[in-house]
Amino acid sequence: MRVLVIEEKTVIEKIESMRNEIVGFLQDLVKMPSEVPPGRYKEISKFIESKMLEVGIKTLRKKNNVIGEIGSETGPNLIFCAHLDTDAPFNGWTIDPYGGEIIDNKIYGRGACDDKSCIAAEIFAVKALLDSGFDFNGKLIITAVINEEIGGLLGADYIVNKGIVKGDACLLGDSISEYPVAYRAGTFQINFTIKGIRRHAQGWPDLPPPNRNKYSGINAIHKMLPIMNFLMDLQEELKSKETKYPLSPDMPSKISSINLTLMEGGVSVNSVPDKCVLHCLINTIPEQNIGELKSRILDFIEGLKQKDPDLDIRVQIPITIEPEITDINSDFAKIVKNVYKTVYNEEREFKIILPTTDATFFHQKGIETILIGTIRGDNNIHSTDEFIYIEDLINVTKIYALTALNYLK
Ligand SMILES: [Zn+2]
Repeated sequence: MRVLVIEEKTVIEKIESMRNEIVGFLQDLVKMPSEVPPGRYKEISKFIESKMLEVGIKTLRKKNNVIGEIGSETGPNLIFCAHLDTDAPFNGWTIDPYGGEIIDNKIYGRGACDDKSCIAAEIFAVKALLDSGFDFNGKLIITAVINEEIGGLLGADYIVNKGIVKGDACLLGDSISEYPVAYRAGTFQINFTIKGIRRHAQGWPDLPPPNRNKYSGINAIHKMLPIMNFLMDLQEELKSKETKYPLSPDMPSKISSINLTLMEGGVSVNSVPDKCVLHCLINTIPEQNIGELKSRILDFIEGLKQKDPDLDIRVQIPITIEPEITDINSDFAKIVKNVYKTVYNEEREFKIILPTTDATFFHQKGIETILIGTIRGDNNIHSTDEFIYIEDLINVTKIYALTALNYLK
């Protein structure tokens, strides 16, 4: 076992002694609905700010993002970032999603795990450091941001790109428990809109000649089928390319995935549909070249157009996020790795996660970003009866505190 330097031990003991307070604060956060949509954040944002002030953190609120600051102007700047918005609860919960109820050492409620736990961890990490008499060399910036669940606009995107928050390194919540994450998969969304001609489906169905005339319909749903088949064939091909980065324990996919996630089309059962829209989310392992994949799809669509003069199609790629790799040999990464060893009493390697997060905004600004969270496969995030293990909440608080302690000493 690694011998703890005295400060680390003191801080860990402080956090242990604050267990009930940390749990109580997270319960209070869960009791304040903050799902998006609709994104009503004022109450929870003010509540988080008041807690920061109580702890002794200087604060600023911008568009309901809460930004706290502690330390000195000289020295490195470390950012903590967690999001205060949640996915919406939906029917099927057996426990009050806004109750913050504790059952078997777990706290239940929407956002208990994703990602209000990390807001509690950030604030109590600072409290433990201050109560231990820690003198910050440099600045620690503590943020609770909005709109992560809908892409980060006006949230992390806003505070980073408007220069409200600047830093050298960032610990972001919203991640798996027990392992630090230094690698993130890439992603892009691609949408296909096909226009057809609406007709009576029995009288003038969309059939090839000789069973059609100038009054026949053009079936937009039928025309989407070759694209769907192509994408599924492409998925088969992607199966052979596995990522070499170590997977998070509860995330099973080593390969890029093509997800047909949303489809709209048709107006009635007896009409030839004049419109079909297919939304597709493609997740890419870091080894996959996104540009190449896009070209494969766009070339296929071009080929279809050549073969079928009736095909009226529009393709849009509204979002592309390249994979992100953080250097695991930097001083910051080494500190994080040592802290995991202290907290879990064994080496924990850096992992990859597939979902995209607010980490992108920090990474794009050249801020070294490592993800540390509380999520396990069984936590039901974005599902019914979301919960967090209290032990994970306490451990992540320790990891945040000890990282700041070592980075800003
Ligand atoms: Zn989240």
